[in-house]
Amino acid sequence: MEKVFHFDSPREVYTADACVITCFDARFDQALRKFLKRLGIGLFDHVKIAGSAKPWAAPEGDADAEYLLRALRTSIRLHAPRRLVLIAHNDCGAYPGVAPEIVAADIARAAAFARKAEPSLDVESYFADFDGIYRVG
Ligand SMILES: [Zn+2]
Repeated sequence: MEKVFHFDSPREVYTADACVITCFDARFDQALRKFLKRLGIGLFDHVKIAGSAKPWAAPEGDADAEYLLRALRTSIRLHAPRRLVLIAHNDCGAYPGVAPEIVAADIARAAAFARKAEPSLDVESYFADFDGIYRVG
């Protein structure tokens, strides 16, 4: 290996304030970071996947639903978050032509699935729109 960049990263293993699942759509990055800070979430395990927690809205036999669950459980095992935050967003490529209400309903269904799968977590679900972030469910 050849060092191409110098930066000192912390070596200490951390306890995460939350595990956060979002889409990878970068338009909402700034809003999400500020919103999470507002929620008191500074250090978090961030699972980014196209469509956010959409696979958990209809999880039966869905490989992505299993993948997401494994990611969440790895976060729990390594960094012991007490909260799970699920955030969907408007104009998501995983929901072409779908009304915001349908996308919001999916993130609420995903939250219900997560509560059942990991009852010890506080699960919150939100919908990011271009003018701010809305609580769902
Ligand atoms: Zn998206």
